[in-house]
Amino acid sequence: MKVHELAKELDITSKALLVITAKLGIDAKSHASSIVVDDVAKIKKHIDSIAVNKVQAAQAPEEPKLNENIDAVSLAEFEKEEAKNKKQVEEVVADLNIIEIEDKELTVKEFAEATKLPLTQVITALLKKGLMLNLNQNIEMSLAEEIAQQFNIVLDIKSLKKTDQQKRVEDVFLAEIEEEERFLKERPPVVTVMGHVDHGKTKLLDAIRKTNVVDSEAGGITQHIGAYQVHVNNRDITFIDTPGHEAFTEIRARGANITDIVILVVAADDGIMPQTVEAISHAKAAKVPIIVAINKIDKPDANIEKVKQQLTEYDLVPEEWGGKTVVMPISAKVGTGVSELLEMILLIADTEELKANPHKKAVGIILESHLSKNKGPIATILIKSGTLRVGHPFVIGPVHGKIRAITDDKGNLRKEASPAMPVEIMGLSSVPKAGDVLQVVGSEKEARQIAEERKHELMEMQHSKKRALSLEEISLKISEGELQTLNLVVKSDVIGSLEAILGSIKKIKVESTAINIIHSGTGVITESDLMLAKASSAIILGFNVALPIEIKNKGEEDGVVIKLYNIIYKLLDDLDATLKGLLKPEFERVHIGTADVRQMFKFSKVGVIAGCYITEGKMVKGSDIEIYRGTNMIYEGKLTSLKRFKEDVREALTGYECGIVIDGFNEYQEEDHILVYALKQITK
Ligand code: GDP
Repeated sequence: MKVHELAKELDITSKALLVITAKLGIDAKSHASSIVVDDVAKIKKHIDSIAVNKVQAAQAPEEPKLNENIDAVSLAEFEKEEAKNKKQVEEVVADLNIIEIEDKELTVKEFAEATKLPLTQVITALLKKGLMLNLNQNIEMSLAEEIAQQFNIVLDIKSLKKTDQQKRVEDVFLAEIEEEERFLKERPPVVTVMGHVDHGKTKLLDAIRKTNVVDSEAGGITQHIGAYQVHVNNRDITFIDTPGHEAFTEIRARGANITDIVILVVAADDGIMPQTVEAISHAKAAKVPIIVAINKIDKPDANIEKVKQQLTEYDLVPEEWGGKTVVMPISAKVGTGVSELLEMILLIADTEELKANPHKKAVGIILESHLSKNKGPIATILIKSGTLRVGHPFVIGPVHGKIRAITDDKGNLRKEASPAMPVEIMGLSSVPKAGDVLQVVGSEKEARQIAEERKHELMEMQHSKKRALSLEEISLKISEGELQTLNLVVKSDVIGSLEAILGSIKKIKVESTAINIIHSGTGVITESDLMLAKASSAIILGFNVALPIEIKNKGEEDGVVIKLYNIIYKLLDDLDATLKGLLKPEFERVHIGTADVRQMFKFSKVGVIAGCYITEGKMVKGSDIEIYRGTNMIYEGKLTSLKRFKEDVREALTGYECGIVIDGFNEYQEEDHILVYALKQITK
């Protein structure tokens, strides 16, 4: 029986099974290895014994639970597995054949020498990957790592710290177990409300909160912590209470997607407006399901049908028109449709199968943070997975601490917080940034150490500020097959030119690379455009629009390419060339010298030698030249031969006479100018 088949039967991952086989001393190297019948029985017995331990562990009393999601059996099982896993990881790491290696490209031969693997085996391994390489061809580091792994060798790439190396191995093992299906529990959906200003986002969030306060016993007015939970049909829904897509994308730009569902609010009396379009782009780029709430239907000039019609222009075709978009008419003011909206959220959440492991060490995303006069640094955090408890040591970027207090959105002090719960935490060493990730770690000491390392890294990064990629570098990535989709944000001065540009872009077809316009609009390039581009690794193309200096600087810092044009075909040409991987680094011309033609000498062998006088700079053999007659350029070529008297020379200086031969050109006239220049690659 193969490892992967048995893993499937046992409902665990192949990797987890390999950990078990290693532990039991059964020889199995990969998911395709075979296991004999006796060993299969041994493995099954071992797994059963874990189950027995699980039941025994479950009888041990747990600390009071606040979260019905966490049952003791599952928690005990997870903790046992985690502890065991840790030990195994240590053993595996101790057993690993770690080979230190320079962070540079290796040839196949060098790789084999470094790893002490027989060349034939390396070449066979490469062949299995469909790569026919000879001894002197380079193999990339990632490939080298992969091949090494097949032989149980870990490459310790010199630029990585040893601890990172170990951490990587650990993370892989731990992540496997943490994400195992049997430990995942249902969690509440997290919802963000977006839309144009004044369309009723705040009103809707208030209305939703109020529906809930009525039936809550405390009845107290909730405090604002940037997010809140409501209880509907015995289930929870989390709302992010910082409306506006900047916050949404800011967090996403920093690598975290916290939202499961977006509610797009569109006022029925106003229809789709620029920020509605932006919000649609943001939600689509994040691949998050959208529920459209057509708001203000109590108003006499409300026109629901018109909004639906407009929605179709953005690929949001209402369900009742045969599309896939859920559209719900509501009035945030009167309360019409609000509870239906909540039920719809639950329905969509069900189809999304939102789950998290509540047992692992908590991971959360900072939504808001500030320095309180009385309480010190405070942050609102949304728990992504795991359970956060008072007393847990943690790191958030370069900030560390130990949880001193957890307060929920109703102002209640809590002992713990579970996935999708927004809570305010105290006990931080300083104020963290919104979008940063909180991670619970093993000890306060570890937390301090990690935070300290990160502080250093941040400082180093500030010294060597990340430089924005250029269009040429993107082009190179495409030509090397690293980039299969080019995401674009297109901004233009007026709708007419925008449509023309979008129309032409759609016509550009390049086999290997797809174009994906994630957002387009008119007006200056804004922070929102930049955030969106950053979050989706897009480039921004502007036509006849301004780029405010602060956005330019931020773009450079964030590594977002922003290109401005005022000729449409130039924009399209650049884009086309980028996609074809043809865009070469830009060169600048460096002027070297000028000479005047005084006399012509015909030779049957070399053609015409122009007798020249160098008026300024110098002449250099092999340089690029242009020939001018009056103010017209008449020829472009290369200076093939340069003579002083009869001697061939490399250079000749101002004030001297020389003989010049230019490949392919013989039709000189007296007083032609020869201009010599060089192309130097621009280092931006
Ligand atoms: P936001 O900018 O999207 O947060 O919009 P607000 O929630 O602040 O609402 C803007 C204005 O529209 C406020 O004056 C609200 O009272 C009003 N408004 C919001 N929802 C409704 C509604 O359903 N009906 C009516 N008539 N007015 C509403």
